[in-house]
Amino acid sequence: MTTKETHAGGCLCGEVRYEISGSSVWSAICYCESCTRAAGAPATAWAGFDRSKFRLLKGNIEIYESSPGVLRGFCRHCGTSLTYQKNPKVLEGAMDDVYVATRTLDDPSAYPPDEHVHYGERVSWFNVDDELPHYDEVSAEHAHRSLAFIRNKEEG
Ligand SMILES: [Zn+2]
Ligand SMILES: [Zn+2]
Repeated sequence: MTTKETHAGGCLCGEVRYEISGSSVWSAICYCESCTRAAGAPATAWAGFDRSKFRLLKGNIEIYESSPGVLRGFCRHCGTSLTYQKNPKVLEGAMDDVYVATRTLDDPSAYPPDEHVHYGERVSWFNVDDELPHYDEVSAEHAHRSLAFIRNKEEG
């Protein structure tokens, strides 16, 4: 989604506030076990941004490393799942993006999802029947973007 706007968001208790600006690089609803367990919900909507577009306004985001190099950010006070990042130093080819859980934005409609990912992992009673593409894992476009990034790094 292309926008020059700035959007603020935060956790349930208000201890953590953040701001993102500009276009998201990716926006999707994820049904994978890690995201959904972390949120305690059958699906989590994420929008990804270049790290430079993310600004912490208030409080601290606690990090839980759910698998090597996968950093999940949450509020230590109320437990709201806020961010997702990959550590490029640990995960070869990972992009230095910050994903925010879009339901934590003050305007959760600001970055609507483009696709459903890891839909094959969803819980059996939860089905979303809309017009967006549903991928059992991730979209080819998303995988391609990661590959292009790895190639750029190897060449540059
Ligand atoms: Zn909180
Ligand atoms: Zn996920």
